[in-house]
Amino acid sequence: MSNSEPLPDVVMPFCPVRQMLRGQKALVTGAVSGIGRAVAIHMAQEGASVVINYASNDAGARDLVEEIEAKGGAAIAVKADVSDEEQVQAMFRRAIAEFGTIDILVNNAGLQKDSPFEEMTLSQWNTVLGVNLTGQFLCAREAVREFKRRGVVPAVSCAAGKIISMSSVHEVIPWAGHVNYAASKGGVMLMTKSIAQEVAPYRIRINSVCPGAIRTPINRDAWGTQEAYAELMKLVPYKRIGEPEDVARAVVWLASDDADYVHGVSLFVDGGMTLYPGFETGG
Ligand code: NAD
Repeated sequence: MSNSEPLPDVVMPFCPVRQMLRGQKALVTGAVSGIGRAVAIHMAQEGASVVINYASNDAGARDLVEEIEAKGGAAIAVKADVSDEEQVQAMFRRAIAEFGTIDILVNNAGLQKDSPFEEMTLSQWNTVLGVNLTGQFLCAREAVREFKRRGVVPAVSCAAGKIISMSSVHEVIPWAGHVNYAASKGGVMLMTKSIAQEVAPYRIRINSVCPGAIRTPINRDAWGTQEAYAELMKLVPYKRIGEPEDVARAVVWLASDDADYVHGVSLFVDGGMTLYPGFETGG
């Protein structure tokens, strides 16, 4: 081969050494883009078989399954609107039929419908609450039913099941112009902690991950231009935007037995966004 010829593409297989989620079955909602996609890939890399939930992007879901399989992982794609009870129940039935059970749920699907408060329509309110909060409720309920039915299998995990709720810094930071979104994430926080109280005796763990500004399609306006990025950095003490992988690594750790005594917490992955950056210079 001459020096000018391009090197062939090499697919690096997942490395099986000390995989943190070996033998586990994970369901990730909204897994075809952004944070969910990174979570699905990292979970597969750590040895989990992954159910890729998606709302509409058939080709994207197929590509992601192929990408995971090409690296030696296992995945299936299941289309379902997480805000629809029947579709969620059908998705869990399909996942359990395919993989035998579900050990990990990542409640990641979410969206924004922004509007000044007085102009916000009921449809914008209901859509955001329906996906971001009711969607997490419906999926968590199915997951808990399955975790309780199966119980702990010590060879697989110390816990009967793990749920990670994708929340946001806006579970605590109010957000003008995004009242529906902030209300949904505030709801996710107390839903998660209340479920945590209730299911702990069954060795079911549930925690929230609260990303700050992460480079994904949901917030392209906030990082898409140099000016927008410079404005955004005023809110981030660590002075870089987060990448989906920053969140994915935290999610994998929370789902693993390394985090077995971590329960009912909100883990902020935000470069310090919740540290009141306005006080950086002493206020
Ligand atoms: P994204 O838009 O790339 O991902 C959201 C995914 O949810 C998309 O794939 C979308 O198709 C899916 N989805 C939307 N409605 C759905 C439905 N009804 N059923 C199934 N799937 C549906 O954006 P992202 O940033 O990766 O967002 C993922 C999660 O992270 C969301 O819950 C979001 O609120 C949260 N989050 C993101 C940021 C950020 O800065 N990007 C910050 C805090 C929290």
